[in-house]
Amino acid sequence: MAYQTINPFTNKVVKTYENHDDAYVEDALTKAHALYKKWRNEPIEDRAKILHQVSQYFTDHTDELARVLVEDMGKLFTEAQGEVAICAAIAEYYATQGERFLEKQPIETVMGYAHVENHSMGVVMAVEPWNFPFYQMMRVFAPNFLVGNPLLYKHASNTPGSAVAFEAAVREAGAPEGSCVNLFINYDQVNKIIADMRVQGVALTGSERAGKEIAAEAGRNLKKSSLELGGSDPFIILDDTNLDEVNKIIGQARLYNAGQVCTSSKRFIVTEKNYDKVLQMMKDAFAKAKVGDPLDSNTTLAPLSTNKAKAGLLEKVHAALDDGATLAFGKLNENMDNNFFEPIILTDIDRDNSAYWTEFFGPVGQIYKVKDEQAAIDLANDSNYGLGGIVFGGDPNHAAEVAGKVETGMVFVNNFGGTVPELPFGGIKNSGYGRELGKLGIETFVNPEMVMVNEKDYVDMDNTFGGFV
Ligand code: NAP
Repeated sequence: MAYQTINPFTNKVVKTYENHDDAYVEDALTKAHALYKKWRNEPIEDRAKILHQVSQYFTDHTDELARVLVEDMGKLFTEAQGEVAICAAIAEYYATQGERFLEKQPIETVMGYAHVENHSMGVVMAVEPWNFPFYQMMRVFAPNFLVGNPLLYKHASNTPGSAVAFEAAVREAGAPEGSCVNLFINYDQVNKIIADMRVQGVALTGSERAGKEIAAEAGRNLKKSSLELGGSDPFIILDDTNLDEVNKIIGQARLYNAGQVCTSSKRFIVTEKNYDKVLQMMKDAFAKAKVGDPLDSNTTLAPLSTNKAKAGLLEKVHAALDDGATLAFGKLNENMDNNFFEPIILTDIDRDNSAYWTEFFGPVGQIYKVKDEQAAIDLANDSNYGLGGIVFGGDPNHAAEVAGKVETGMVFVNNFGGTVPELPFGGIKNSGYGRELGKLGIETFVNPEMVMVNEKDYVDMDNTFGGFV
């Protein structure tokens, strides 16, 4: 595959990159593995210090890095600045909190003294998507760097500029050679890396299809994996909701990053009482969206990332309409000279409509009318996905109870579903497994090694169930 930046706003090729050959990959593996061995004997504080520097680097170079994101995948410049800022925050979070998360945990045992000590495991191979090219990388890089797991990564073929810039940023901030290596490689080369005995972890963020392929490869080679996949997140609006609060976020909940967010609210599930008002609210919010140059501060809706992404989304919308959905707002921009996809709303989606089961990765809102709260929960859970979700209700405690009934990995009550370093991120069902961010995120590729120490001066067999293990 060609690693190529095509500016999504102009559809002009900016730069094409050469693929890395097997010798380059072998060199990267050798250096990364040697670093893993070296790091095993070095204090974690040394890496924490470098992670502080990485954080500072992202802060100091915000606009420059943000421009790389805009050119690669077309997001709004202001959103790109936000992405760089969250990267700095994640690096800082693990720099300051990571060591605490990895402290020894004593265990009470009949055998005497024991503890779990958290060790690095080895090189981790990451495969990352284009929608948040730096943020997705930082979610994997920062915790693994602190733990002592060097990272090799294959980034999306349409965001090579970001792939190169991320590697350069962490190296310039002081990370040693082999700690974070970008590889422009094909899928077969990824599979060979996964099979290599020096690699002990595989992290993928991407589609369900890629998840199945990468997880199968990891399984075949007995490598631990984490999968951060797609979603079709519900946004439940209960009867007693203060709709003025919903109004503040309903547009952004779907349109942020041109709707290309795994945790965008994709299915708005509204009880009969509020349905008409919420539909109108969403129409008003979508009508305000202004497409244009992502670098122009007047633009509020960026183009989609690629021509291919637009064609794929159009195809899914046509399938939904053919299956009986109603286009309740907007019209389809079928002109393929540009990647703009003006927001639309689909209603009347039945269970036998393909849209009911599909992730729309772009500015497509689906609104469902339900009889009552229980019907809202049932509909939310009637999905192959389980990534995020939002529940709004007048009584936050009750809304939180409803949230607990939604089968998903993350749920926000009466709030926008954002991301911060300390909140674990990940899903269930076809949205994947494992977690990134927070304390859980640093534990993914850690060996919790149990060490039992007999403090008596004789071997004590009394408490070992007769030596049975
Ligand atoms: P994708 O096609 O699966 O691509 C993601 C990455 O996987 C790219 O680097 C791609 O490389 C690579 N890839 C795909 N198949 C592969 C294989 N068999 N072997 C090795 N590498 C492979 O994903 P996408 O459709 O571009 O990205 C959007 C999806 O990601 C959405 O479903 C979205 O919801 C999900 N996502 C999830 C999260 C989360 O945290 N849960 C976050 C962001 C996005 P190429 O580009 O070279 O094909």
